[in-house]
Amino acid sequence: MNIKFWGTRGSIASPGPETVVFGGNTTCVQITTDSGLVAVIDAGTGIRNLGDFLLHRSEQKMIHFFVTHVHWDHLIGLPFFAPLFRPDYHVVFNGCRKCFEGVKRIFCSDAIDGTWPVRFQDLKAQIDPPAEAPMGSFSLGDVLVESHGLQHPQGGLGFKFTEGKKKFAFLTDNELTEEGWKGTCFKDFVNFCQGTDVLVHDCQYSPEEMISRKGWGHSDTTIVARLAVETGAKKLILFHHDPWRNDDGVREIITKCRESLDRLNSNIFVDAAREGITIAL
Ligand SMILES: [Zn+2]
Ligand SMILES: [Zn+2]
Repeated sequence: MNIKFWGTRGSIASPGPETVVFGGNTTCVQITTDSGLVAVIDAGTGIRNLGDFLLHRSEQKMIHFFVTHVHWDHLIGLPFFAPLFRPDYHVVFNGCRKCFEGVKRIFCSDAIDGTWPVRFQDLKAQIDPPAEAPMGSFSLGDVLVESHGLQHPQGGLGFKFTEGKKKFAFLTDNELTEEGWKGTCFKDFVNFCQGTDVLVHDCQYSPEEMISRKGWGHSDTTIVARLAVETGAKKLILFHHDPWRNDDGVREIITKCRESLDRLNSNIFVDAAREGITIAL
């Protein structure tokens, strides 16, 4: 399984010379399984480049979508995803039906005098809504995909992909807390992410910033380091970079997380997600 980051930023795109190392596009991650299936997590602004890549440099015409939640930074790129405008593409949405309603509304022109000129029903690709089955686990060829609720305003889903002995967990827009949030607690996430080779987790803030941002639905370096250690993750990748943070600022977040891992006597590899980089499992 390969994981490629097309968008790493949180909240709003932040392009420019100060963010070229870690990227300015919002959430979009491509997963390519060993058998060549293509899955996409979220449709932030990074998805425009992924669409062009799939159109011009890939034979794959079937795309499996996993949407974490419907906040704008995770869907706003969808109208620019070129395969949706092509009749030879088949796009399958997995996950909760509420997310699919959000997907359709990105194209909706009912609000005001219209927010986008193309209607969802006018897209040319074959588009399948999520199955009626309640959210839980799916099979994507040989890959088992499991989901877990997020601690985030208005909710959301994190995903874990297991292919053979390899495990990849992706949780963004998730505020890990000691006290828990609406029925889920830190231990639930430890169980869900147990034994992952690559753990990608929201780490938008430093512990100092977190003091004034509780309840916003994002995590800080200290608790993310703890999650990585308690799950036995081999690689920790920090995600959903704050839009006000330049490349040097993201490097400081990596350093703070490294220091937290050191205090826990852990030598887990840690880095921040970098737009355009592929991680092979
Ligand atoms: Zn977000
Ligand atoms: Zn969000």
